[in-house]
Amino acid sequence: MAREKRTEYLDRRLRGIIQYAYKHSRATKDKLDSVGLKPRAIQTVKDLERLPITKKADLIELQGKNPPFGGFEGVPIDELRRIYVSPGPLYEPGESEYDELGWAQCFYATGFRPGDRVINTFSYHMVPFAMQMVDNSLHTVGCITIPTGVGNTEQQVNVLRNLKANGFCGTLSFLFNISEKAEEMGLDLKKDLNLRVGFVATEMVSESLRSKLEEKFGMIIRQGYGTADIRCLGYECMKKTGMHVPDDKIVEIVDPETGKQLPPGKVGEIVATTFDKAYPLVRFGTGDLSILTETACPCGRTSPRLVKILGRVDQATKVRGLFVLPGHVDELVSKHPHMAKCQIVVTRREHNDMMTVRAELQEEGPQPEKLKEEIERSIRDVMKVRGNVQFVPRGTIPEAAKKIDDQRTWE
Ligand SMILES: [Zn+2]
Repeated sequence: MAREKRTEYLDRRLRGIIQYAYKHSRATKDKLDSVGLKPRAIQTVKDLERLPITKKADLIELQGKNPPFGGFEGVPIDELRRIYVSPGPLYEPGESEYDELGWAQCFYATGFRPGDRVINTFSYHMVPFAMQMVDNSLHTVGCITIPTGVGNTEQQVNVLRNLKANGFCGTLSFLFNISEKAEEMGLDLKKDLNLRVGFVATEMVSESLRSKLEEKFGMIIRQGYGTADIRCLGYECMKKTGMHVPDDKIVEIVDPETGKQLPPGKVGEIVATTFDKAYPLVRFGTGDLSILTETACPCGRTSPRLVKILGRVDQATKVRGLFVLPGHVDELVSKHPHMAKCQIVVTRREHNDMMTVRAELQEEGPQPEKLKEEIERSIRDVMKVRGNVQFVPRGTIPEAAKKIDDQRTWE
């Protein structure tokens, strides 16, 4: 879809779900009523700014007041096929008919094709991900799912081998466990196993581990992002240029303090709206930070992309108005292998935020002065904010130290 067509399409579906949810979901009606709006006030994605953001904590609170779903369900409970339970505890109205498009788009982009045999190693109990989303969406694509669930690594290897399975769904770290186990069993990962395509999710992906496993198995591994409540919110294509937003969701990037939408390129919270009639969440705040881009992707898909997930809103620190995140520390270390460890310290001097990166160096390395300049340049690249580098002796930064030490006081 071209951008204008997409805008028109999303606005039309938004009007549809708002009309529907106002009528059928008590919580959505209350949300509009709380700001004195009728459904016709929400005509476009931009109009969503007029509505408050619903957070996970609000879902839990409202479920307590109005069990089991806090009035968020959009169909009578006896029409549901399943009810899921997520940590919280949070009860989720499951599907009556599962018609989500997002994860199916994700699996196709990952490289799954009809007839592929896929082990699904996500947990099938309680939570909706493995059964509702992954299993159903693999079926939509035309794959054959082998519901192996979590654990039993040796058995997973045997299943892969005996059924000549060529697909994997699970966490990257579990795929690593499988690789270790298979090697321990004397197998050659490329010759004895047939893995060709892998989908990973639910944890931060270590790029070095991903490349290593792609190389060892001779497979392609792509990741997706979503939540239990909203489902798929982004997926990588072959080009790995971020995560494409699926066509059946509205994703806004907002300033967590004001709830106002931010333009592409700015860091903010991912707030999402689904068109799911059974569970029509409108402006759900994920608590995750990201950046949206609308630049063209060489894969040909025209959807906007989440550049990457940068961390949680509640772990972020603002320095001179810009977000600094624990993940930035990891990124700096990965850019400068001569640095063994680092920590960001934020202080305030005469009403100005000061950011210092304390760094421990490896034994052998280039001239500290030169390295200091290089790291300071990386800080500007990674965090868009200036910071000073201070080298400290090995062992100065304690093992359990916070990645960002915010020492500012606000008197
Ligand atoms: Zn793409």
